[in-house]
Amino acid sequence: MLSTMQSYALTVGSVLRHAATVHGARETITAVAPGRRRTSYAELGERAARLANALRGFGVDGDQRVATFQWSNQEHLDGYAAIPSMGAVLHTLNLRLPPHQLSYIANHAEDSVLIVDDTLVPLLARALPDMATVHTVLVTGSGDLAPLEGYGKEVLRYDEVLAAQSPVFDWPDVDENSAAAMCYTSGTTGNPKGVVYSHRSMWLHSQAACTRNALGVSYDDTILAIVPMFHANAWGLPYAAMMAGAQLLLPGPFLQAAPLVEMIESERPTMSGAVPTIWNDILNHLRDNPGHDISSLKFVACGGSAVPRSLMQAFDELGVRIVQAWGMTETSPLASVALPPATATPEEAMHLRGTQGRVVAGVEARIVDDEGTALPHDGKSVGELEVRGPWVTAAYHGGEDPEKFHDGWLRTGDVGLIDPRQFITLTDRAKDVIKSGGEWISSVELENELIGHPDVQSAAVIGVPDEKWQERPLAAVVRRPGSTVGPEELRQYLSDKVAKWWLPERFSFIDEVPLTGTGKYDKKVLRKRYSDGELAVEGHVEG
Ligand code: ADP
Repeated sequence: MLSTMQSYALTVGSVLRHAATVHGARETITAVAPGRRRTSYAELGERAARLANALRGFGVDGDQRVATFQWSNQEHLDGYAAIPSMGAVLHTLNLRLPPHQLSYIANHAEDSVLIVDDTLVPLLARALPDMATVHTVLVTGSGDLAPLEGYGKEVLRYDEVLAAQSPVFDWPDVDENSAAAMCYTSGTTGNPKGVVYSHRSMWLHSQAACTRNALGVSYDDTILAIVPMFHANAWGLPYAAMMAGAQLLLPGPFLQAAPLVEMIESERPTMSGAVPTIWNDILNHLRDNPGHDISSLKFVACGGSAVPRSLMQAFDELGVRIVQAWGMTETSPLASVALPPATATPEEAMHLRGTQGRVVAGVEARIVDDEGTALPHDGKSVGELEVRGPWVTAAYHGGEDPEKFHDGWLRTGDVGLIDPRQFITLTDRAKDVIKSGGEWISSVELENELIGHPDVQSAAVIGVPDEKWQERPLAAVVRRPGSTVGPEELRQYLSDKVAKWWLPERFSFIDEVPLTGTGKYDKKVLRKRYSDGELAVEGHVEG
């Protein structure tokens, strides 16, 4: 065998080392009430060392899971840096889950120490009594500890614990294939399932995020990470920022449109990432409060659900480019990005931006039929999307749901097509597909078109049983305040945008679309409301 290159472990520790030394002066800016807190990456190195020393003292000396129950803030970043680098496993808990799911997840992952923001203590108090393996809780800030006491856990103040530690830690050599972090999927069906990231997967994913075919994170960026750090590692933005020397803007709990716009105007981030609902809120806020300038944002990664073209066009007019990306908790999450080639005509470019994009190098994608046979990438054949690659999970924690994996591919549960240029278009989640008279109707496309109507704030389309066609689409629409738009006007609006037989006959005007723990439309709830007769249906159903 020829001798080749050094074997250098691709670890989170190496990312931290790079940030703290090469980019030591670059800052993380956290929104706090009132004001902002600024911490350099050099300081992050010291804070991480203090946290690692403290965790060692609490018995974390191997791959124990250390849970976080935190907004996006400096203390959460301390955990991002320290926990994997010391060889332990960072387990981000999703604040939006109900208490019984939180305790289920903490027990399933066997969390040992848990770090919580003081503002979230009341929420944690509802789940902590059932968290059997958690023995120590560290509380950031100076809020009340009392709600966490009396359950046999040691409850301590984070700042006091850190202050008592050395800012130097003897970081161990860590195997790049060992576990670094874990995150549970929202589990809209069945129990939540754990995805365990390795050091290697996180390193490669971060580096991919820094390439121009993906997010192109660089030293000159300031990244407003709106997507929470408890959701799929904030799409990997914190680690990519540390790798690139980009500055990080962390909004804490201030995720409403007004404080976000204020933060954008004053800190002038160049890049951001958030789900379409957030950008929709920001757009509505800007329309109601003109005169703001958010054009410092040059690249806004958007995904988590399909991004309506009308949303991208509205932001284009503000000088802000929204770029659609697709991924899942299981794919770290970044897998594909919709960047049209520079040679595309404006119409073509808009069309391609509305797709889920092309996979980045490292991820492979294919479409398969019900038997698992790969279908051609001809822009016509529709099937389930499967992916594989070094930052795609090989199994769920504990080996649950093995049927989601076959032949080394992950079955994504997303349905769509791939065109000859390799752009992916998703039409639905497998569990939400609508089949009318034997033909597919894309609820995603109907939703995207509906949201383009000026009177529509949001819209979710579900399939409902129909005597003649087996299934037909029903549009559950949230109107903009003050609007009285009705079924006929919406049908008329859609009529030149989708095939005639796609036009929903049934409309239901609702106050809000129910959401899952990860902020996606909870169509299961809508379907149940419909079958329970709780949705008032308007429109004309032909006999
Ligand atoms: P969950 O825990 O709800 O699965 P994830 O964030 O892992 O949360 O969700 C991944 C899913 O989100 C994908 O399988 C897909 O259905 C949806 N999704 C993500 N990005 C996009 C996108 N750009 N367009 C359409 N759907 C998307």
